[in-house]
Amino acid sequence: MNKEIIKDLNFLFVEDESSIQEFTVKFLQKLVNKVFLASNGLEGYKTYLEHQNEIDIIITDIHMPQMNGLDMLEKIREINKNIPFIITTAYNETNFLKKSVELSVSSYVLKPIDLEQLINSLIKTAEPIVLKRQLDEAHKISNKNEEYKRLKSIFNSQENIIAIIKDNQIIEANKKFYDFFKIKKLEEFDNNHIFDYFIEEPGLISKLNIQNSECWAEFIKQLPEIDRIVKIKNNQNILKTFTLNIEIYYEEENSYIMTFTDVTSLKEKVNLLEYQATHDALTGTYNRNKFNEVFQKEIRRNKRYQHDLSIIILDIDHFKTINDNYGHQIGDEVLKALPQILRTCIREHDILARWGGEEFMILLPETNIENAFKVAEKIRVKIENQKFTKRYLNLTSSFGVSSLKEDDTPENLIHRADNALYKSKHSGRNLVSIIQ
Ligand code: GH3
Ligand code: MG
Ligand code: MG
Repeated sequence: MNKEIIKDLNFLFVEDESSIQEFTVKFLQKLVNKVFLASNGLEGYKTYLEHQNEIDIIITDIHMPQMNGLDMLEKIREINKNIPFIITTAYNETNFLKKSVELSVSSYVLKPIDLEQLINSLIKTAEPIVLKRQLDEAHKISNKNEEYKRLKSIFNSQENIIAIIKDNQIIEANKKFYDFFKIKKLEEFDNNHIFDYFIEEPGLISKLNIQNSECWAEFIKQLPEIDRIVKIKNNQNILKTFTLNIEIYYEEENSYIMTFTDVTSLKEKVNLLEYQATHDALTGTYNRNKFNEVFQKEIRRNKRYQHDLSIIILDIDHFKTINDNYGHQIGDEVLKALPQILRTCIREHDILARWGGEEFMILLPETNIENAFKVAEKIRVKIENQKFTKRYLNLTSSFGVSSLKEDDTPENLIHRADNALYKSKHSGRNLVSIIQ
């Protein structure tokens, strides 16, 4: 990638840890025009207010004293809805990552900061800004032929996909465009409207809105970046997610430059990180954290509407002997098989999570204790009759069931289910017990 592109730009770098600050700034200063520094969100916000005409891109940490990076982002977005943000974040901060995507960060860099990745993010983010400036410069050239050549070379050096639209027709496109749509000539591109290629999905630019607007390019142009996301499938069914940027090309000629910045990997990464943070790696069920999150929400909701809510905790009997006799891998196979069996006994909106080693938790909304008992009993019988793994192992499991009462906390409810499980274990196992 071309580092030249960022050399004239000014950055605001917000980071509270002095060691990270020092080494990143030292590195950045060699590559860019100017770096403004701030040590927390509040300082960053103030620095932005003071230098908003100079700052091109903001790089910020998330966790900081006084004001965190995302709150700062929200405040700055009130003043400038388009200034690009790059956030630096630790691998496990998925909730923040998700929020930051909602606030339309341009890119993020995982901590500890990988300088190579940082540069790539900077370049990608800087491109639309620099492109606009280069085009303005190119238009100043009086020789039309020379200008055209210059434009062509600017377009082709871009990492983003670019098309020039005039009267709704694509009249020019760059190499990345040809590559993505797998065409050699523009005539091969079947375009009455490029937006015929946009996938219709909630949260994306809707074809319907575009078609109903007087000038679709103007319609898209006035949207904040967060609402300028499109998904496009090329002729080979490759699906990519882009943010779409529209600038006026020649105002008098009704023409626009469209820049498509590929954010597919950002979205995929966030989805993957979110998946990993909420799911158990072995069984693919929700993990304990995610269960607790859903559980708290359900309890709050149920308290308001006074509905029934029950939980079932399940623990495999003598699981240790399976590991001891057949090895850990067979033990793992059993654990992987269990959720499939459990799912056949519960409803779609019941929540299943791995609670710990060989314990699973099920949350049953709209279910009273009698019905929860029946579900647990059904599971108990099913497990008892199942042959597990290629060794055809027999297993049993024990259950504790409890239901939400007035003034219950989540902890109380789980505590009762746990005690009920204990009771099952001590009464001989392969049993369901209730503590009301
Ligand atoms: P009890 O009937 O009293 O529940 O006996 P138990 O042997 O099932 O209970 P205990 O809690 O003593 O042992 C649980 C075992 O589960 C011990 C641990 O090695 C095993 N275990 C926990 N997580 C995993 C895992 O991910 N894979 C495998 N294979 N075994 C696991
Ligand atoms: Mg056990
Ligand atoms: Mg156990």
